[in-house]
Amino acid sequence: MFDFIIIGGGIIGLSTAMQLLQHFPDRKVIVLEKESALAQHQTGHNSGVIHAGVYYTPGSLKARFCLEGNQATKAFCQANNIRFDQCGKLIVATNELEMSRMQALWQRTEANGLEREWLNAEQLHQREPNITGLGAILVPSTGIVSYTEVTNAMAKVFQSLGGEIGYQHEVLGIKETSQSIRVQTSQGDFSGRYMISCSGLMADRIVAMLGLKAGFKICPFRGEYYLLKPQYNQIVNHLIYPVPNPEMPFLGVHLTRMIDGTVTVGPNAVLAWKREGYRKNDFSISDTLNMLGHKGTLKVLKQHLKPGLYELKNSLFKSSYLKEVQKYCPSLKEADLQYYPAGVRTQAVSDEGHLVDDFLFVSSARTFNVCNAPSPAATSALPIGRHIVEQVSKQWVL
Ligand SMILES: Cc1cc2nc3c(=O)[nH]c(=O)nc-3n(C[C@H](O)[C@H](O)[C@H](O)COP(=O)(O)OP(=O)(O)OC[C@H]3O[C@@H](n4cnc5c(N)ncnc54)[C@H](O)[C@@H]3O)c2cc1C
Repeated sequence: MFDFIIIGGGIIGLSTAMQLLQHFPDRKVIVLEKESALAQHQTGHNSGVIHAGVYYTPGSLKARFCLEGNQATKAFCQANNIRFDQCGKLIVATNELEMSRMQALWQRTEANGLEREWLNAEQLHQREPNITGLGAILVPSTGIVSYTEVTNAMAKVFQSLGGEIGYQHEVLGIKETSQSIRVQTSQGDFSGRYMISCSGLMADRIVAMLGLKAGFKICPFRGEYYLLKPQYNQIVNHLIYPVPNPEMPFLGVHLTRMIDGTVTVGPNAVLAWKREGYRKNDFSISDTLNMLGHKGTLKVLKQHLKPGLYELKNSLFKSSYLKEVQKYCPSLKEADLQYYPAGVRTQAVSDEGHLVDDFLFVSSARTFNVCNAPSPAATSALPIGRHIVEQVSKQWVL
């Protein structure tokens, strides 16, 4: 019998597993992961940005955990010899409308307690000769890292404390009683006193296995990238972000320096017809029916039809995608954009038809379930794990 069974070998699962054993060193903990390695889904398919916490509603969990996570991630990297680069980020306005939106972002960065600097066009040009804009906000604490490396380092700490990882263990069913939890997997059953689900894109399915009415469904959004040709590896000194359009739920196509020295463009945000479908034409009938059978998701798709179609056009036509980047980096040409693998984001949609904005957790007597952990959840993984340990310490007899 395990004390804790954790579902999911992404960064949230491993951060939680590691911190649980750091707090309760004598307990038996296992992570069940359906793939044959860690970080195979969102954690291994993202931009690798250590976000600073610019955009999030002041006082929200996202704002709090991102700010803390920025520092905590860098400290964890330093302690575990993981490469990271605090290269800073520029949010660039390219027209008057974006300048006014940037004013609102400036207020928000103040409310969220961030160090930042307002740059005029000339100051922007001095810092980034290849970027054009009317002005920019510089956020120096933003950095880059490989979240796969961070997750593997967390796993090493977890295993050194006696934790176990069961690879290729897909959770197929869960039974919660007043005494224990029984988890049925593709490689046999496991019994535990408590269970924590950190199952990313499958969060709603785990909650459904428990028979909980959580009031949301996961809607997957593909994020497609391009890789710039190697001769552009020095094209920017910072990460370059557009000013986000408030009609769009995501940040907009950005130029991202990656920790391996390359530069990516992206990601966009298009509806995914398969939850773990990384190729453009991946399709799953059950995932699609699941999505379209949810009233809340249909309402959201209807509300965001115009921006959704715009994103689809950019996904289908490289020339349209390129125009998004040329707004602030005019020298790039279509031939400069090369293939790069996509990621699929998890996004909870409420039954009432709202994109769930903040991190969301749902618990039962013996389970704690991470239900909405989109970006900046990789940055926030250490505070999220700490939060889970604090919550279960209060709720459960340990
Ligand atoms: C395109 C893109 C760009 C992003 N950019 C950033 C960024 O720059 N910075 C940032 O902070 N965040 C970013 N994010 C968000 C970040 O990657 C995620 O929020 C974070 O990785 C979530 O981690 P997780 O552990 O919850 O999920 P995941 O990494 O998806 O892990 C969930 C795990 O659960 C496993 N699992 C699911 N169901 C089962 C089951 N039934 N049985 C066993 N195992 C199961 C899966 O196999 C998976 O390994 C981005 C995300 C995407 C997709």
